[in-house]
Amino acid sequence: MRITVLGFQSPYPGPGGATPGYLIQTENTNILLDCGSGVLAQLGKYLPIHQLDAVFLSHYHQDHIADVGVLQFGINVHQRVEKLRVDHPLPIYGPPHPTKHAEEMTYKEATTFHPISSEEDVVIGDVTISVLKTDHPILCYAMKIVHNQTTLLYSADTGQLTNWSGFCEAPDLFICEGTFLDGYEPETPIGHLSVRQAANLAVELQAKSLLVTHLYHTYESEDVLLQASAFTGDCHAAKIGLQIHLSEGE
Ligand SMILES: [Zn+2]
Ligand SMILES: [Zn+2]
Repeated sequence: MRITVLGFQSPYPGPGGATPGYLIQTENTNILLDCGSGVLAQLGKYLPIHQLDAVFLSHYHQDHIADVGVLQFGINVHQRVEKLRVDHPLPIYGPPHPTKHAEEMTYKEATTFHPISSEEDVVIGDVTISVLKTDHPILCYAMKIVHNQTTLLYSADTGQLTNWSGFCEAPDLFICEGTFLDGYEPETPIGHLSVRQAANLAVELQAKSLLVTHLYHTYESEDVLLQASAFTGDCHAAKIGLQIHLSEGE
């Protein structure tokens, strides 16, 4: 499984930046995980948009969905002009609530909406996705993405109250949000983690490697890595274009 960071910033992209979006690829499956502001411009460096097999959205906050509308326009134009995907709308998997946003995920013949729930796994090609509701102001799902023996865990947006027990143990990679560096934490929890909390959670879940993401665009990677030092495995601070390869048996 290959993971490419297309965007990681929040709440808005810095100059030339992008808010969360990750391209997940196996030999024959291409999945876009979240679709934030600026993600589509990055995606095109790796894959024509009409070759996506599915889009998974963790929740409907704008930093995770801002580019969905232009993705829908793009697919629609490929269908009209080049007859690509004509009988094959791009499935967008996302939470059923808020319904106002869920309804917008279906657009002409370009995209169709599929609700996700913790009751049911979704299989796309050679990848299986399960979801877990997180501690966040609106319905938000963390995701476990499994390909053969390889497991990727994505925290999505989460506070400290998510019940992780039994969902995913020892993922090969944990993509975890670390919204706050020291000194930036709000007084009352607002459904996000600090970098230190992300590192502690990675230790708790026995992650084999960690990618800290959902960062303010002026944060320095050195500070992120320093404050994540409770995690002693392979640790990355998210950067646009960063690629991580997870191979079988690692
Ligand atoms: Zn959010
Ligand atoms: Zn967010």
